[in-house]
Amino acid sequence: MIYVLSYFRRLTVKSSLYFSFFPAVIISILSYSFFNFIAFWSILTLIQYSISSLINYFDLKKETGLSCVLCGFGHCSLLYPARKKKLDSNRGSFACSSFDHGQYPDIYYCPNCKNGFLKNILDQNDEKFVEDGIQLYHEVEDHEYIKNLDARYITNRNIINDHLDYFKDKSVLEIGSYYGAFANEVVKVCSDYTGVEPSRHGCEYVKKKIENVNIVNATIDSFENDPSFTDKKFDTIVLWDVIEHIPSPVLALKTLNKFLNKDGVVIFSTINIESTFSIAMGPMWPWFMDMHYYYFSDRGYVDILHRSGFVLKDHLHYPYYVQFSYFIKKVLSILGLKVNLPKFFEESLKYHLKLRLGDTVMIIGKKATI
Ligand SMILES: [Zn+2]
Repeated sequence: MIYVLSYFRRLTVKSSLYFSFFPAVIISILSYSFFNFIAFWSILTLIQYSISSLINYFDLKKETGLSCVLCGFGHCSLLYPARKKKLDSNRGSFACSSFDHGQYPDIYYCPNCKNGFLKNILDQNDEKFVEDGIQLYHEVEDHEYIKNLDARYITNRNIINDHLDYFKDKSVLEIGSYYGAFANEVVKVCSDYTGVEPSRHGCEYVKKKIENVNIVNATIDSFENDPSFTDKKFDTIVLWDVIEHIPSPVLALKTLNKFLNKDGVVIFSTINIESTFSIAMGPMWPWFMDMHYYYFSDRGYVDILHRSGFVLKDHLHYPYYVQFSYFIKKVLSILGLKVNLPKFFEESLKYHLKLRLGDTVMIIGKKATI
């Protein structure tokens, strides 16, 4: 029952239109009538969206005593029950390329700002969960990610070329530089680059791979204590797929704001819980994982920008590239099959696949003028 309720509570007008389209096509084919297609598409969309509005109305009325971490509204409710009861001690589950899809603690939802959270983040006293996470990030070694680096270089090269004004001859800070997928490309155009990364293995890898690169082994909470940040300001600060891993995203963005030049921009990418793909996948959406603390809505990422001293400049979707063998392994892991592909099979599936599922979004914010 919870899955049906949560399907409707997450629907938007756009997704109602999408999910009514195919049943309407089938009805029109069976009845040989274009009129039936239009009529059923409209009626099904209206019915779905009306049920969604009704459920959201009751969610907004029903006080649960669980206050949203981001907007403070005390009506949060369960979106999907846990599919893993306690934090896995397996360090692989905190690797960026983790295959632990479909394993997560309870996921809650705020009917006001439409953001999703792990229950452990809603329980603000669950410091152990956050501490354990930080420790896991320090110790992570992600060999699967390294194997797929070539595809990530292409993704980042395209982003940099499409938004060259933010990177060419600019002073760039990256939070969560990991294995240098972005650093490797941006150092070719920027004036100077600094990376901050909690994974010791990630830092060592980038220092070996890129000559004279400035990488600081620290977290978002501790990097400013490093001497290289004294009186330092940047033109562009980026966080690629990082903000949803941070326990206090508003606090983190406020800290970054202090390190930004007057006309500087912050650019971050994140997963979008309101995307049609996410709603269609329901509890099977691959990004529901215990390492993702937040699942931002369209309003959610604009809110965190505003509350940390930024205004929205742009938000857009972008394609990303993955190695075909990596994609196959991801799909299998979502289906609950963890398999190691035979080596010859992996070697023969090395070409890159361009994906645009619409469930990741890139947000550009500029410093607000007071
Ligand atoms: Zn909220």
